[in-house]
Amino acid sequence: MSRALLDEHRIVEVRTLSVRCRYPRRISRNSKLLNHGDGPTTQVRVLRTDKGASGWGISWAKPEETPDLVGRAVGSLFDPDQGVVAPEAMPLDFPLHDLSGVILGQSVHQMLGGKGPRDVPCYDGAIYMDDVEPEENPVGLGVVLDNCRHDYDLGYRAFKLKIGRGFKWMPPEEGLQRDIDLTRAVRDLFPGCDTLVDANDGYTCDGFLRYLDGVADCNLFWIEEPFQENRDDLRRLREFLTRRSPRTLVVDGEARIGQGQPGGPYGGFAPEHIDLLLGLAREKLLDALIMDIASVGFTNWRRLMPAVTAAGVRAAPHTWGEPLKTLYTAQLASGLGNTVTVEGIPARALDHDWNAYALKEGLLRMPDAPGFGVKLLA
Ligand SMILES: [Mg+2]
Repeated sequence: MSRALLDEHRIVEVRTLSVRCRYPRRISRNSKLLNHGDGPTTQVRVLRTDKGASGWGISWAKPEETPDLVGRAVGSLFDPDQGVVAPEAMPLDFPLHDLSGVILGQSVHQMLGGKGPRDVPCYDGAIYMDDVEPEENPVGLGVVLDNCRHDYDLGYRAFKLKIGRGFKWMPPEEGLQRDIDLTRAVRDLFPGCDTLVDANDGYTCDGFLRYLDGVADCNLFWIEEPFQENRDDLRRLREFLTRRSPRTLVVDGEARIGQGQPGGPYGGFAPEHIDLLLGLAREKLLDALIMDIASVGFTNWRRLMPAVTAAGVRAAPHTWGEPLKTLYTAQLASGLGNTVTVEGIPARALDHDWNAYALKEGLLRMPDAPGFGVKLLA
């Protein structure tokens, strides 16, 4: 029925544009990279049909990798129950979800079944290592706490702290102590908020367990990429957490190991790597998998979620640093459920308007608007 409705629309135009966002402050360092910039300029594609419907979304593919879909019926490319069904149309995964939602008068979270909450937990993913800058005279921890306060006022109630200062930016012992001091300070200053930590694989297992020893009473909400995922070290981590901080989640899968083939089942992720992660999940060494929403792809994530559920864990797809990816992930979470929380990216949108989404007390309210519910102002 709904696919028949999509068949009544033929694509008459595919337009490429870019949209911009600006973060509230320059985003500095994680354990490995120096600078995360002021906000992205993102390539998007806008689809228009002969009946006057249009939809748009992120589409990273180069022009030569983007199929000419003009003349094709939307129903030959997209099935609301699955997502993109014509492999050649995969580079337009997000725009086709938006367009189909517009044609069907349905939000993406409704299209996916509305199995998750309407108010999706959303944490602040923008707490980086401003304390170690400028290098000649570092300002210290106060600035990081100010950033938390700023983002608290935007509505965030959970902060993800970048840790691993001793990997590159500080002598190892000082860096370890700074990570511990920051974690404890955030816990003390924001007692009602969750604290998440992300080392971007910047610790060894031994080093990370020493960090954890210093914060085991902080009831960390989650630990992300403490070290490169491997069975032996994750077993040691689990053993520690079971004794000292049993509610803390371990999440991994952001970093790609190997490359997926174009058109493969997990987009840019290698199937062997996804198999490794699902295996670690089945062994209860990981609690959530966080492969990027756009690197995997929206349709592929829809396909992957049942396997994640079957492995006994939840999802929390990575979104940094594109705020549109936060909104896409929130729609996935609200539609499919089984998602812990969504990585939020404080920013203001230029050229587009996401005001239909509202962040309040740490929850991102899903709009009823069709598709992804983000307006293009261009
Ligand atoms: Mg991360």
